[in-house]
This record gives sequence, C-alpha cells and structure tokens, in this order.
Amino acid sequence: MADYDVAIVGCGPAGMTAAIYAARANMKVLLLDKLAPGGQIVNTFEIGNYPGMEKVGGADLAISMFEHTQKLGVAFDYATVEEILDEGEEKTLSCKEGQRISCKAVILATGTRPRMLGVPHELDFAGSGISWCAVCDGANYRDRDVLVLGGGNSAVEESLYLAELARHLTVVTLFDLTADPSACDKLRALPNVDVHEFYDIKEFLPGEHFTGLRAVSTKTGEELVVHADGAFEYIGLQPTTEPFGSLGILNDHGYILADREMKTARPGIFAAGDAIEKGLRQIVTAESDGAIAAESAARYVRALTR
Ligand SMILES: Cc1cc2nc3c(=O)[nH]c(=O)nc-3n(C[C@H](O)[C@H](O)[C@H](O)COP(=O)(O)OP(=O)(O)OC[C@H]3O[C@@H](n4cnc5c(N)ncnc54)[C@H](O)[C@@H]3O)c2cc1C
Repeated sequence: MADYDVAIVGCGPAGMTAAIYAARANMKVLLLDKLAPGGQIVNTFEIGNYPGMEKVGGADLAISMFEHTQKLGVAFDYATVEEILDEGEEKTLSCKEGQRISCKAVILATGTRPRMLGVPHELDFAGSGISWCAVCDGANYRDRDVLVLGGGNSAVEESLYLAELARHLTVVTLFDLTADPSACDKLRALPNVDVHEFYDIKEFLPGEHFTGLRAVSTKTGEELVVHADGAFEYIGLQPTTEPFGSLGILNDHGYILADREMKTARPGIFAAGDAIEKGLRQIVTAESDGAIAAESAARYVRALTR
C-alpha cells in the first residue's frame, strides 16, 4: 500500500496551495522540499501585487501559507527528489537524502532558478561578490557600490530595494528596462542610480576580489567598465526539472507540459507553478495551478480506489 495518496515535490506557493486543496479533499498528503518551505517568495523583500494585501513581506507570506498546510495535517519533509519511478498505479520518489516514498499521485511544483550569464570569472565570484538574492545579501552592500544586471521585473524591483541601501547602484542590461513602466520611472528618478541599456556583459574583472565588469554597447560598440563592490544578477530563470527528464513530460526548454487540468502525459503525475510551460509566472498563477492540480490529483486517486 502506498505511503501517501498525494506527494507534492516543491514547497513554494504552487506546492503549498496544492497541499491545502488536497488535504481539504481528504487526501493523505506529503509535501517535500530540499530547502526551507516557501520557495522563491522567501527571498522576495516585498510583494505588492498579492490581492487583498497591499504590501506583504515574501517571508511572512511564505510562513503563513506553510502554517496553513500544517493546520490541515499535511506532512512535510526535507528531501531532494532525484528520480520518480512511474510504476502505473504507484509512483516511487527517490531522494538524495535516502528516502524512498511511495504514493498514488505526484504533483511536481519545483519552480525555477536564476539563470547565470556564463561569462568569464562569474564562477570565481559566485557567492562572494556576485549574488542572486538581494534580500539575502543586500545588507552586505550598505553604503557601498553595487551593480544590478538585467532589466526585467525582478531586476527593477530588486534595484529599488538595493538603491535604498547602497551608496550607488548601476544597472546594466542587454536590452532596455522592460519592467512595469511605473517601477522603471521610479528607479530612473533615484539620484544614486545609473542605468546602462543595450550593453552586452563580456566579463567580470579578474582579480582576488570582485571589482566590477566590462561590457560592450550593442548599439555603438563602445566599451563600458563599471567598478563596484558587488553584483546582483537578474537575467531570467530556468526550470528546476532535471529529475523529471526521463518521464518524457518536458518541452525543449525543460518546462513541464501540463494541460488545463494540470495533467502531464503520465497518468497520476500532475504539475503546477513556475516549472510548467505557461505565460505568466507569478504567485497567484502558481497558486491557481496548485489548486487545479490538487483537485485533479484527488479525482485521480478516488478513481483508483473505487
Ligand atoms: C526576485 C523575485 C521577485 C519576485 N517578485 C514577485 C512579486 O512581487 N509578485 C509575484 O506574484 N511573484 C513574484 N515573483 C515570482 C514568484 O516568486 C514565483 O512565481 C513563485 O514563487 C512560483 O512559485 P512555485 O511554487 O511555482 O515555485 P518556487 O517558488 O520556485 O518553489 C519551488 C520549490 O521547489 C523546490 N525544489 C526544486 N527542486 C526540487 C527537488 N528536486 N526536490 C525537492 N524540492 C525541490 C525549491 O527548493 C523551491 O522551494 C518573484 C520572483 C523573484 C525571483
């Protein structure tokens, strides 16, 4: 007999919402994450577009979602799922930490992770000069000079946060600023911020410590060297779906293919959140996917046991 009705891989907004809906549908639910519960929102300073809450701290929202799952009796375990064996009516999750968990249905909600630039000396400074998390590392740059690389919503939101701490902030982006126009206007108006658009970053400056980067204008060919004490990269995301490659449910970019009911091509395997192929990756869309996936999974489990 399977250990759980529904096992959910990933404890971000999609996974936690799926857990709430599955538990309320009387399923025996396990929620797994390799990190602390919360997903990407744990590292988001302030969320300003969550309906009903004008402004909410990402970590606060994550804690209240997780507490909600715990009040409903959802089991949680720290585990890095490395492989899913699909044996028809039973699935087995193999985890790096040694657990082997059986369940009737799985919901994959493993989200995305930041993309790296892939330029020389990036790895030399990863974690010691280059960061992907302003909330985690921003305080190290109080009254110092920082770079933000990228021009999308995350880059601009996190720039607004960092500009309050840093002495000077320089944004370097390959295109123009593509974030919400009001946020871009706010950033450009700050006295301690410079924005360099249409610059291709060629390398981080070599040396013992992080000192800056070299970029080249894609419009004029002009070289730009910016000196700074640290850099924050926000140049996009890639799906965290490597463990599911052998299931044949990924598109060419590694995103999970799921239909409107959040079903993948494998019966009993559902998916939700940023890890699936879709247009808008936000908390509310992750939650919507999670709710639908849980309803579909509960229907699938009930049909098995009928
Ligand atoms: C800087 C930044 C700012 C943002 N600001 C906003 C905002 O203001 N408003 C908004 O709506 N959205 C915002 N977003 C987007 C929002 O955070 C995501 O859309 C949302 O978190 C997606 O939820 P998810 O549950 O699909 O995935 P995630 O939140 O990415 O959670 C996935 C979880 O799966 C876990 N996991 C991955 N692989 C495995 C594995 N093999 N085994 C076990 N666990 C695994 C991860 O550890 C992670 O906890 C922001 C994102 C970033 C990066």
